[in-house]
Amino acid sequence: MARSSNRTTERGFVNRNRQKNNGATDPPLPGSDHNQIIYKMECLVCGHRYGANSSHIWQRKCPRCQRGAEGLALGVTGAHERYASPPPPKRLDALGAGCEAWEAEINARVAALYGL
Ligand SMILES: [Zn+2]
Repeated sequence: MARSSNRTTERGFVNRNRQKNNGATDPPLPGSDHNQIIYKMECLVCGHRYGANSSHIWQRKCPRCQRGAEGLALGVTGAHERYASPPPPKRLDALGAGCEAWEAEINARVAALYGL
C-alpha cells in the first residue's frame, strides 16, 4: 500500500471501493478544487459513470450505490456528455407531500382578496 498513492491518476487504477479511473477528461475539465482536473470514474459494482477530482480518486465512493458524494458534471463541453450516466428518473412519489401549508396560505390570501 505504501507507494500506491501516486498511481491513482493512472488510467485503469481501481480503488478500494471498486471505483475505476478511466482517465482524465480530454480536453481537461477543471475540477472543483484548486489545480484539479476531472477524471472519468466508473463504478465496477453498478456501472455508474461520473466525474471526480484527481485528488479524490483514491477514496472515491460511487454516488449511486455507495452513498458517495455526487459526481462532478461531465456534460459541460459536450465531449464528455455521452460518458456520464443519464440522470436518475425523477421521483414522483413525493408529489403533493408537504404542501398543506402552501394551500392554507393561498386560501387565506384569496379570502383576503375577495373579502370572504
Ligand atoms: Zn455504483
